[in-house]
Amino acid sequence: MDGAGLPETRSTCPYCGVGCGVLLRADGNGGLDVRGDPDHPANFGRLCSKGSALGQTVGLEQRLLAPRIDGAEADWDAALDLVANTFKATIAEHGPDSVAFYVSGQLLTEDYYVANKLMKGFIGSANIDTNSRLCMASSVAGHKRAFGTDTVPGTYDDIDEADLVVLVGSNLAWCHPVLFQRLLAARQSRGTKIVVIDPRRTASCADADLHLPLAPGSDVALFNGLLAQIADRGAVDADYASHLNGLDDAIATARADDATITGLDPADLCAFYDLWIGTQRVVTIYSQGVNQSTSGTDKVNAILNCHLATGRIGTTGCGPFSVTGQPNAMGGREVGGLANMLACHLDLENADHRAAVRTFWGATAMPSRQGLKAVDMFRAVADGRIKALWIIHTNPAVSMPDADAVRDAIANCPFTVVSDITAQTDTARLADVLLPATAWAEKDGTVTNSDRTITRQRSVLPAPGRARPDWDILAEVGRRMGFARAFDYANPAEIFREHATLSGIAAGFGRDFDISALSGISDTDYAQFQPARWPVTQERQGGRFFADGAFFHPDGKARLIAVTAKALASVATADAPFVLNTGRLRDQWHTMTRTALSPRLSGHLPEPFVDIHPDDAQTLQIATADLVRLTNVHGQAILRARISKDVQKGQLFAPIHWTGETARCARIDALVAPATDPISGQPESKAGTVAAARFAAA
Ligand code: SF4
Repeated sequence: MDGAGLPETRSTCPYCGVGCGVLLRADGNGGLDVRGDPDHPANFGRLCSKGSALGQTVGLEQRLLAPRIDGAEADWDAALDLVANTFKATIAEHGPDSVAFYVSGQLLTEDYYVANKLMKGFIGSANIDTNSRLCMASSVAGHKRAFGTDTVPGTYDDIDEADLVVLVGSNLAWCHPVLFQRLLAARQSRGTKIVVIDPRRTASCADADLHLPLAPGSDVALFNGLLAQIADRGAVDADYASHLNGLDDAIATARADDATITGLDPADLCAFYDLWIGTQRVVTIYSQGVNQSTSGTDKVNAILNCHLATGRIGTTGCGPFSVTGQPNAMGGREVGGLANMLACHLDLENADHRAAVRTFWGATAMPSRQGLKAVDMFRAVADGRIKALWIIHTNPAVSMPDADAVRDAIANCPFTVVSDITAQTDTARLADVLLPATAWAEKDGTVTNSDRTITRQRSVLPAPGRARPDWDILAEVGRRMGFARAFDYANPAEIFREHATLSGIAAGFGRDFDISALSGISDTDYAQFQPARWPVTQERQGGRFFADGAFFHPDGKARLIAVTAKALASVATADAPFVLNTGRLRDQWHTMTRTALSPRLSGHLPEPFVDIHPDDAQTLQIATADLVRLTNVHGQAILRARISKDVQKGQLFAPIHWTGETARCARIDALVAPATDPISGQPESKAGTVAAARFAAA
């Protein structure tokens, strides 16, 4: 059957946090035609290589189509009863903190909301964390320290309207390609200058006016140097300073820091400071290179300090901008999907906030303290404190730091449930119970992208086999655990209305996330909902935050945080002399569950590799295409060598994506130390240390 005559459906790309709108048309044979939505404010019709190949990833070859218990097919009733009864029995015997959910930025907001409500309102633990912990937790913590709430001040429009865009720890060209296309368009039309700050020469450098290959982890020193220069050159915005606390302390601390530890050429450093201070419209985009660090929160605040001191925030073409890795990392933040947050940007450790949520939910048990963040959660699985674990749409046996230890911990956990679209992940293979969930093109709900725009994701394909939506699976388990009324949802629109209503209560506590104008949205309007940037209230929709100098701390002011550069957690030694940088490729996504299904995407860089500087390759007698073994105390990986000056001497780069039994030796997170930022709990995935040696000649 030809699908050409069928209508197109508006939905959202399920990969990165740009959140591009897509138009989908079922082809009538189980496949999809996909094109960019010309009316979506994130992409205006553009798509990147991954988005445009979405139609190649919806086949059913690897799908999980029925529940499984201990590997054998089971019916839903048996599987759901087993999950609910085992969680109940575990809680009864060992207490609520003996169970945990590890969820994902792939979840839709409605799914996320139900998972968070079940754990924090009815199980009575805060042991729910998300793979977004590995992605943007440092940004959340930095925002809260500076602004009082986790608020992204600007919008994508600011990239179009900036005169200088600084990319810090962000290979925007490959990881957020449509935003990079918007940046290149701005460069073309208004001459926007581009500075890339990254130890590695990435694809984003090809169009940069300046590349600063700073020493790994030295971002705080770089931005402290900028803040000191802002002060020394009289570039502090004196009017805006009346809205700030901590300015003098931050400047004094910045002056005492030493920008030479960046290892940068002083002329380049000076050129950067001249450009930044001399350009009014500056957007500083940052991503994993900033966040994935044991001083990630301090790095974020070092950047925010510079924008606050100059008042370059919340106005056209200005602002710090954290871009999220996952499609719904922001939605997860909104529902309190992190172990230290409550729904709607309320604080778990604030008694008034807790009381309001308890009343609204009719909660039967609420924790009063934070739960286990991702790395600590899997430590607790390993040492037996967590005895029942539910993992939803993520693959921690590959993607967590110290991945071999995490894999062993999951294997030894007394009871592990995995909800996913496939049984073919390293994590799913370890599950006691496997629950088949609907996939991206079969799901209904909403996601929020990096600039706070909420967009509908709509189902265009039928759920295959016995797959069910995540919100439905979670609510069903909640009902079977005895919480029938609280989880009596008929559809995602009901959940969305509840979330929107709670956001109005949160706004009463001075929280930023407010979509209360949508609390009465009808099923029909929800079905037809068009992209909207929050806040969405009776008084305002969307726009920027903070141009007026009104922040969310109790005194209404922002806080500059005095931060000092710190050393990396892993120190190079004779046994592990190389700094290992990890990251994404243009055409793969996470552990390749979907993108590997596309022949076109898999053809870009078809096998795992490690980039090594020519001088190091010569010392180690490694030639192009040789197999190289990387080792450290955590694990090993065997990868194909690429000799490249894109990495600095003494540094290596390897992509994160490869997985599976046959490619076990390419699981790069097996080498990542589980060292975390003390504030955000985000691991330092960007700067471990390893030894390298030739394993086999090409
Ligand atoms: Fe999808 Fe991100 Fe590419 Fe847009 S930029 S099409 S959201 S992967």
